[in-house]
Amino acid sequence: MNVEETLKKAGLRLTNTRKAVLAAFMESQKALSHNDLEQKLNNCDKVTLYRTLSTFLEKDLIHKIINPDGAALFALCKHEPMHSLKEHYQLHNHAHLTCKVCKETRCINDFEVEIPKYLLMNMQIEEVSILLQGTCSNCIKTENRV
Ligand SMILES: [Zn+2]
Ligand SMILES: [Zn+2]
Ligand SMILES: [Zn+2]
Repeated sequence: MNVEETLKKAGLRLTNTRKAVLAAFMESQKALSHNDLEQKLNNCDKVTLYRTLSTFLEKDLIHKIINPDGAALFALCKHEPMHSLKEHYQLHNHAHLTCKVCKETRCINDFEVEIPKYLLMNMQIEEVSILLQGTCSNCIKTENRV
């Protein structure tokens, strides 16, 4: 799906900022911070960017990741927008890897945690957050070349 289709499917009006922010997420391999986005979108004011991010979070187009130094990062959601039957935690049940060399954080979409049944019966789980820290495959390749 392209930018326009994704925004329409989420029931959002097409604005230039929304299109530019969504395009930035679609093009990026890594999770993006407010700063990253400000740099990518040259003339976007902070307030509009902030509002756009909260709209995208609300519509579940993106999800939030807290990196090891406590900063918020955002990454594109890979699940379908139609998910009324699923529990929220199931949608974002994947790990993130933060690389200590390039400082980039990315989604590891095929790493899922199995939550024990007794927990699901006794608690309401809404979010899953697993943060792996180490060296990413790009940086390992670069290190080996030196
Ligand atoms: Zn999501
Ligand atoms: Zn790296
Ligand atoms: Zn993710």
